[in-house]
Amino acid sequence: MLMAQQVIVRFPPSPTGYLHIGGARTAIFNWLFAQKTGGKFILRIEDTDVERSSEESILGILESLKWLGITWDEGPYSQSRFIKEHVAAAQKLLESGHAYKCFCTKEDLDRKREEARKNKAPLQYDGTCRNLTPEEIAKKEAAGMPYTIRLKIPRGGGSVIFEDIVYGFIEKKYEDIEDFVIVRSNGQPLYILSNAVDDIRDRITHVIRGQDGLANTPKQILIYKALGAPAPKFAHMSLTLDTKKAKISKRTHGELVAVHFYKEHGFLPWAFVNYLALLGWSTSDSREIFSREELIEAFSLKGISRANAIFDVRKDDPKFFTDPKAISINTHYLRNLPVEEIEPYVTEQLEKAGIWDPEFQSIKRDWFLRTIDLIRSRYHVTTDFVTLGRAYFSDDYPIDPKALKKNILKHEGLKEWFPILADRLQAVETFTVDEAERVIREMAEELGIKAGILINGIRAAVTGQVKGPGLFDVLIAVRQGRVAERLRKAVTFFN
Ligand code: GLU
Repeated sequence: MLMAQQVIVRFPPSPTGYLHIGGARTAIFNWLFAQKTGGKFILRIEDTDVERSSEESILGILESLKWLGITWDEGPYSQSRFIKEHVAAAQKLLESGHAYKCFCTKEDLDRKREEARKNKAPLQYDGTCRNLTPEEIAKKEAAGMPYTIRLKIPRGGGSVIFEDIVYGFIEKKYEDIEDFVIVRSNGQPLYILSNAVDDIRDRITHVIRGQDGLANTPKQILIYKALGAPAPKFAHMSLTLDTKKAKISKRTHGELVAVHFYKEHGFLPWAFVNYLALLGWSTSDSREIFSREELIEAFSLKGISRANAIFDVRKDDPKFFTDPKAISINTHYLRNLPVEEIEPYVTEQLEKAGIWDPEFQSIKRDWFLRTIDLIRSRYHVTTDFVTLGRAYFSDDYPIDPKALKKNILKHEGLKEWFPILADRLQAVETFTVDEAERVIREMAEELGIKAGILINGIRAAVTGQVKGPGLFDVLIAVRQGRVAERLRKAVTFFN
């Protein structure tokens, strides 16, 4: 029986900056496909552009992948380690007659291109060196003339045809492909060659990458062919655009398209993977929430759309700092995952904000988990725990000016009532939700005022917020002693 070939995919980022949304999406699709098929996922760092590559970028990319939970089976390999192999492949192509040395100088080529432009002729290389005799080549080499190596494209009709898994059949006539350079005159292989040689060595079966790779694919297929290697299958993914139809890019959108931005701004890694997977991929029922297992199960290359994906970058929106759909998916996970799964991410935010207390993990752990559970029902991102939720974890919390004005200063009486409430709440023997409620409602009745005035005032004083979960639950979470203390201190707002 014929065994199905194991799927081998790769994610080969160029380390010229942080991992961005587009790169992460490519990594995720490759990873999902490998997971789904029991295949292998190779991480390769395409660092041959020495000027633009940096160690810092490599570390940043690895960190972002790890944060997303994208694991690789092999690598990271550094492409530059294999330059000798790339050059050897070019040598092999020279020997087999699939490539040739080109001695045309840059000036020659510029001049010819200029002429062609004037005559409206094709701008392709004219093949001057394509048919040099061995003697002519030897003479030029003996004279020390530098040369590039060009791939010899078949002439006299024909075309490259391949079936892209997403875009379908694609045909490119040989006559529209020039004898392109695969090794520069300084001996450096071109990226297009290195990429193909690495894919051959790594036995890549499926190249899943951004649509910008589509234009290079016919040339790469010709390299495979010339090297006598079977071409992998290709699946190109549509572009990611913003709502103004501009391509998402580091240059235009800056940090807002960096994966680390979402980590810092309180996204849960799986929620973000779930969101990114929906950029240009869907199931027939347009489902939006997938656990890891469900996503792997549901994923197929067939579900990748040709239509461009839209990422709603929002720079100055006061309500959402990013695509509302990304926020809504994160909100779903933040509110519904077992609280223990949220805990490490909340911890991380508290640490970063300098309000972490090691007791939250030891003697106060039960309280910590209950408090997260109580307040998360209104939150969207984990940073909300240190902004909106700061008063639960620290005594140093700001009072929202709106809460101060509307819920405290508007009711002069609170200046007198707060200390009384503080005493009464502190006097309660077992501080429970019911007891806290009893004390506050009794006091409102005694004063002949609406309980809401006390409730809103206490909330503003104790949490700094206008809104929040039920106040009596809030008081238990903040704890008896601290509630009393904060109410006493709130008197100073009237000074
Ligand atoms: N290094 C290329 C990039 O970052 C990858 C191209 C490919 O997947 O073949 O765009």
